[in-house]
Amino acid sequence: MGIVQQIMHILDFPGFPWKTVIAGFSIGKYVWDLYLQRRQAPYLLKDNPPSVLAEHVDEKKYQKALAYARDKTFLSTITSTFALVIDLLLIKFNGLSYLWSLTKFPWMDHLAASASKFSLSVAISHSCVFLFAVTVFSSLIQLPFSLYSTFGIEEKYGFNKSTLKIFFMDLFKELTIGGALMSFLVSMFVKITMKFGDNFVLYAWGAYILFGLVLQSIAPSLIMPLFYKFTPLEQGSLRSKIEDLAVSIKFPLKNLYVIDASRRSAHSNAFFYGLPWNKGIVLFDTLVKNHTEEELLAILGHELGHWYLSHNMIHTLVDYSMSLAQLFMFAAFLRNNSLYEAFDFTKEKPVIIGLLLFSDALGPMSSLLTYGSNKISRFCEYQADAFAKKLGLAKDLGDGLIRIHNDNLSPLEYDPLYTSYHHSHPILTDRLAAINYMDLKKNE
Ligand SMILES: [Zn+2]
Repeated sequence: MGIVQQIMHILDFPGFPWKTVIAGFSIGKYVWDLYLQRRQAPYLLKDNPPSVLAEHVDEKKYQKALAYARDKTFLSTITSTFALVIDLLLIKFNGLSYLWSLTKFPWMDHLAASASKFSLSVAISHSCVFLFAVTVFSSLIQLPFSLYSTFGIEEKYGFNKSTLKIFFMDLFKELTIGGALMSFLVSMFVKITMKFGDNFVLYAWGAYILFGLVLQSIAPSLIMPLFYKFTPLEQGSLRSKIEDLAVSIKFPLKNLYVIDASRRSAHSNAFFYGLPWNKGIVLFDTLVKNHTEEELLAILGHELGHWYLSHNMIHTLVDYSMSLAQLFMFAAFLRNNSLYEAFDFTKEKPVIIGLLLFSDALGPMSSLLTYGSNKISRFCEYQADAFAKKLGLAKDLGDGLIRIHNDNLSPLEYDPLYTSYHHSHPILTDRLAAINYMDLKKNE
């Protein structure tokens, strides 16, 4: 902690160009993303699929996948350009400070003035109202783009199954649930920082871990059912094969659900959720519909590999240590007067503003963290594939992965730097090579 505080002390002099630094980070990130897209562009203009996959991929579908990727890239460029402009305007014209005073209602001042015991609750409620306003503001700004993404691009390629009604209901649910969870988290955080002063780091970290555990345990039963209908997978040969697989590797399979993802989108997926005492597997109905039982079983073999090899634990430990490191840095940041002053917070120094500015100032580091966590994730994916291979499911897994790629219209080739920065999963050809799929196919 000493070093971080020393650095912060050096950076904390009146007139330190914080605005320029943070705007520079935003522009830098934007340019970096453009550069990666530029590198990826030639791969989206190829005439033929990679030769190893030639016989597995339909020519027309291949071209459609590339067109889909080009459309998505175009939209993401427009969206990020717009976001950058808004971001720079907010920095230039002190948007945060303006919104902070806009969300301060007169009753807050009265209450705070009436007795000092109310100062904490006023700080908490003001922070919650403010953050909620920020969330609504950014959803409104993104709204035209997400509408176009769903009803323009996804529709064009046959993926969209949602209606305007479902779309807006989802948005409403996300804002209310997100708002409630965020208010809770913010209240806790503001309270801890104000109560424990310089020693808040470990308390805040403990609260973060606790909050995460609670969220993970209520999400499958309370939150996700608000968006999807969970139906237990029906009895039959698929279910009994999955149960046999679970028994063979001693996986305590209690919950096996299919969700009605097809109400919104034709994209397919499967995932595995829960804490050690409450685990489950969720299959998208689109996945169940489009794949053979053998392929589904192999995909589940992969998912169970993540469990068997404790990958969840690895991700959780990485997350916990990162958040602890960030809290230590934030603690030093919180006392930085020049930062607050640069953004027009001269009288008040709200914790929540410090947190927002801190995450902006951390921009380049979070990019590095994303890169690092994707690298770990890809390593885990290879391991889970190898696990499925050990179960004798390699050929079916390969078939399943190819089908998922075809059905989701995913491009097959990527620029190495682009994929290592953006992707949590290795590219298809690498995964197939790692499980010797082509040889297995030849010997079939
Ligand atoms: Zn996986």
